[in-house]
Amino acid sequence: MKIFNTMTRKKEEFIPLEENKVKMYVCGPTVYNFIHIGNARPMIVFDTVRRYMEYKGYDVNFVSNFTDVDDKIIQKAIEEQISAEEVAERFIAECKTDMDGMNIKPATTHPLATQEIGGMIQMIETLIEKGYAYAALDGTVYYRTRKFRDYGKLSHKNIDDLQAGHRNIKVSGELKEDVLDFVLWKPKKEGEPYWESPWCEGRPGWHIECSVMSKKYLGDEIDIHAGGEDLIFPHHENEIAQSEAANGVQFSKYWMHNAFLNIDNRKMSKSLGNFFTVREVAEKYDLQILRFFMLSAHYRSPLNFSADLMEAAKSGLERIITAAENLNYLIKSAAESDLTEREAALLEDGKVYTKKFEDAMEDDFNTADAISAVFELVKFMNTNVSSDNTKPFLESFYGQLKSLCDILGIILEKQEEILDEEIENLIQERQEARKAKNFARADEIRDILQEKGILLKDTREGVQWKRI
Ligand code: AMP
Ligand code: ZN
Repeated sequence: MKIFNTMTRKKEEFIPLEENKVKMYVCGPTVYNFIHIGNARPMIVFDTVRRYMEYKGYDVNFVSNFTDVDDKIIQKAIEEQISAEEVAERFIAECKTDMDGMNIKPATTHPLATQEIGGMIQMIETLIEKGYAYAALDGTVYYRTRKFRDYGKLSHKNIDDLQAGHRNIKVSGELKEDVLDFVLWKPKKEGEPYWESPWCEGRPGWHIECSVMSKKYLGDEIDIHAGGEDLIFPHHENEIAQSEAANGVQFSKYWMHNAFLNIDNRKMSKSLGNFFTVREVAEKYDLQILRFFMLSAHYRSPLNFSADLMEAAKSGLERIITAAENLNYLIKSAAESDLTEREAALLEDGKVYTKKFEDAMEDDFNTADAISAVFELVKFMNTNVSSDNTKPFLESFYGQLKSLCDILGIILEKQEEILDEEIENLIQERQEARKAKNFARADEIRDILQEKGILLKDTREGVQWKRI
């Protein structure tokens, strides 16, 4: 498996630190609003990377944070006259709803910055002890950038060029030793959330949280660190400076970055105001279509969002789902008999598409080519299945298609949604059946609901139910 490593600017063979295990960290969103579809790109891309790794048999420890303390969250809290905590809690929940709609697996751990302040203080203390950080008179703690010899190695920036870029910036009134130094801890401002620390009541800078959460949940050395390409500099560069100075070992072996999702060829972003939230897109399209659209391009190529491309994704996805439905329909009435010789030969021939799919994914996760392989498989199936086929043959084809779609996170069979009202009616019917001592029917209703993911709990106050 080859991965393009931003650090070396080369495709490299993936060799995990520990056999069969992958330790992966993806920088998550700042939760002050609904996520936009630009934020959804890294989520979909790296969820697909994870799914492919799992398909290959790796045990993936996948960590992705929520930045739940930040200027923008505080600003939103002031506007809405609620606490920053409430803002973050609300938008984490909304983000998880969107992730679920895009069939993004929950991370092994989703740490929150505000829950890890102790670890951040500890790492900052270590950096101060080692001479990589210092506290200024007002209690701000800065990272001493020039002290870290490798600074710029990820973004391929030269530290003197960076310094020159700052030449015109006024530093009067600044308490830092050097313009390149960045903040690790800053004093609180009136009305802001804050934590006690050895330096001042305040809160952490943005970069330190990822170094600390990655260390806590994955260890000092990890396999893959990922995010959008705007994070290369300064965020990831600073994370490297912090982690490697504090831990004394290489932080991450591979660095992966997705290109931007654009609109009219400009980066979609909240600050430019040219964005669509995932929620807005969901009003018009099934989010499976959004996922399929994102994967139709290679993750390192810019992708332009447009109605035309979404329509193309919609019809492409429909082609795959129709083929799956057709197979399912045939399976229901197919004979249980053994595979015929011709069928066995066809299944063997069809394996070439799985091979093509895998080859594409092995080549730095080329999902665009992987999707082409799925289309070829669908075409091959459509021309080779009929109501004369045996059940094992049809099921085998279905299984092949499903396993490839699972890697892409594309769901072939939607579980039928059951409405609250239908649930209530069935519960009512179950109560009546019980009263009439028709326990068989009562149990049957419980099973029907369970199959639809509804769990019943009999309590003294009546029957409670929840979706699981
Ligand atoms: P933020 O909340 O801005 O820190 O972004 C969360 C994640 O979304 C980061 O990995 C960003 O790099 C990524 N991201 C933000 N905007 C875009 C975009 N237009 N295209 C692709 N990725 C983006
Ligand atoms: Zn980060």
